[in-house]
Amino acid sequence: AQERYASIRDKPATTACGNTVGLFMNAGLMADLPSLPSSGAEGVGLFRTELQFLVRNQMPRRGELVALYKRVLDAAGGKPVVFRTLDIGSDKVLPYMKPNDEPNPALGWRAIRVGLDKPGIMRMQLQALIRAAEGRPLTVMFPFVAQFEEYREARRLMEKTLQAEERLGHPLPETVKIGAMLETPSLGFAPMKFFEEVDFLSIGGNDLKQFFFAADRENERVRRRYDTLNVSFLSFIESIVERCDKTGTPLSFCGEDAGRPVEALCFAAIGLRSLSMRPASIGPVKSLLRRSDLGEVRKVIADARHRGGMSVRPAVMEWLRNQG
Ligand code: PEP
Ligand code: MG
Repeated sequence: AQERYASIRDKPATTACGNTVGLFMNAGLMADLPSLPSSGAEGVGLFRTELQFLVRNQMPRRGELVALYKRVLDAAGGKPVVFRTLDIGSDKVLPYMKPNDEPNPALGWRAIRVGLDKPGIMRMQLQALIRAAEGRPLTVMFPFVAQFEEYREARRLMEKTLQAEERLGHPLPETVKIGAMLETPSLGFAPMKFFEEVDFLSIGGNDLKQFFFAADRENERVRRRYDTLNVSFLSFIESIVERCDKTGTPLSFCGEDAGRPVEALCFAAIGLRSLSMRPASIGPVKSLLRRSDLGEVRKVIADARHRGGMSVRPAVMEWLRNQG
């Protein structure tokens, strides 16, 4: 399938109306990195660091993590990599950590909640990232931030860790960007000050959608019940885009939906300019974006909303069919 899109691999995802959308890939293991050049991704928009913790049977040591993150940055060869700090809990339980018996693990002690309550592991991971990046840019984002103060607390931990590393004589990264994943509806309604303070945001659509519709992403009976192109969900994403535009906050979307061409097209139409997806999706998404006029898609979406439809998908699909 990659071959089919080889002719556009090194071309930008510039739409027929002249807007360019950055296309990045999701990764989590060293084995994913060779896809960076072959897919034409501009970088790694989401590096799920917990995968490397999940595939072993004991907690990795700091030195091992430094070596691992160095290899990731080396393999990226100067293209940006967004490292997401450990997103454990819920569906991702470390085999060497005491399992929590929680009635609702998806709503439980997970991700940044663990990181802030037990900062030892997070500090170790941040140190490893700082040491691996030495002299190069470092981009880190925190998963599952539900309120402003959690981001501030995590950021303070990062800043303290940077200062401590400097005191120890370790060379620091060239630049450090600290972002948050927007995966809970509450963060979308955070005060504007949050949008000003955060270096960038990435919408974790898999979780955001599950919490928006209160429909478990792991539950086959309900997980496909609500369309991503549902007018309510799309309006919510659009309001996040508007807030970010006001504060000049870089915004990206890194859930699985970013890799579905029709979804990606609608996200671009409502203003998203950066999408991160599995590598095999980059070709199909780019191909559709390059053929499309976002102004026309916006009109189709507006009409569908005006008519009171539940999802804009049928209208967008019809428009696409008419495009040939
Ligand atoms: C998401 O929630 O959309 C996301 C990208 O993170 P994960 O799928 O790892 O929870
Ligand atoms: Mg998530």
